[in-house]
Amino acid sequence: MSERDLYEVLGVSRGSDESEIKKAYRDLAKKYHPDKNRGDVSAEQKFKEASAAYEVLGDKEKRKAYDRFGMSGVDPQRGRGGGGPFGGRGDPFGGSAFSDVFEEFFGHAAGGGGRRSSGGGNLRYDVELTLEEAFSGVSRHIVFARTESCESCSGTGGEGGSKNVTECRKCGGAGVMRFQQGFFAIEQTCDHCRGQGRVIEKKCGRCGGQGVERKERQLDVTIPAGVDTDNKLRVPNEGNLVSGGSRGDLYIVTKVSPHEVYKRDGLHLGIRMPIGMIDAILGTSVEIPILDGSRARVNIKEGVQNGQRLRISGKGMPELRSKKRGDLLIDVYVETPVKLTSKQKEILEQFREEGRLAENAPESAKFFSRLKGFFKGG
Ligand SMILES: [Zn+2]
Ligand SMILES: [Zn+2]
Repeated sequence: MSERDLYEVLGVSRGSDESEIKKAYRDLAKKYHPDKNRGDVSAEQKFKEASAAYEVLGDKEKRKAYDRFGMSGVDPQRGRGGGGPFGGRGDPFGGSAFSDVFEEFFGHAAGGGGRRSSGGGNLRYDVELTLEEAFSGVSRHIVFARTESCESCSGTGGEGGSKNVTECRKCGGAGVMRFQQGFFAIEQTCDHCRGQGRVIEKKCGRCGGQGVERKERQLDVTIPAGVDTDNKLRVPNEGNLVSGGSRGDLYIVTKVSPHEVYKRDGLHLGIRMPIGMIDAILGTSVEIPILDGSRARVNIKEGVQNGQRLRISGKGMPELRSKKRGDLLIDVYVETPVKLTSKQKEILEQFREEGRLAENAPESAKFFSRLKGFFKGG
């Protein structure tokens, strides 16, 4: 299916109201309808695109999810094949899981069911980590709400259990209706049972017929060493229970906070290290704390230049699920001394009078001689 913006597909603006969207869809559907465009592949494609766009934008909840998260907000199953409005069984965009969980975590707490249950049961949980935690890996105790089978109706959605649930007469329990429309075999979600294949005669009072209710879930999750911002860790079968009995997955999404000293660049850790001018001239040795708690001794050779990068290999971040580690990159910054006493100045004046400046500073000597030549030549 196309990755085009759904509003663009329908030719409407983001601010369009429901009736404008409906009208745009109707116009397109009429124009590109397979009956009128027999054998025209591009018309067929446009018809499908418009239908898929309307599946989302024509539904208040899905549209809201799409506005916030794009297709990932309405279709977590994307990429598994099937899909598309005429492809698989039931509602192809049934899984507005991410929007669900965002509201759950950042909005209302679980309120005894009543929320519309959706196809996909995947949940998202955001975890913020320090760089040290990302370095060593960490265990987190998380508390979240997810749907479980409703206790009152045993998950059937009918008051008192299965006695109030019957097979859908219209689709014979299949959940879909198949019919021939011109050249195409069309498969549509059964409108009587909304793809469920069964009809609830009397809805369960506790869950409103959803068969599921929200409950608190506590879990210890291990976040492996080496995670970076926006890594998604899948915890299988810890998501929502959805109508039909399958359970989605929980996705832990990591965010690593910036560090005061270290700047992360993939596997490497960078540090900007100021050193005094005399240390730069004569050389020195410094100790640098490593994120694992150890220290690395760094020898700075005499004559180190401003901006020079030193590399300690294997002291950077660990790679996720590997023994490999990045490097520690030290960018030397030579600090020019300030607030000198008159005695210090005197010593440095003596240093200057020593001469040998061309040997001490070959680069600037070369630069100034080139400038001289430039002025003569001009
Ligand atoms: Zn119930
Ligand atoms: Zn049906």
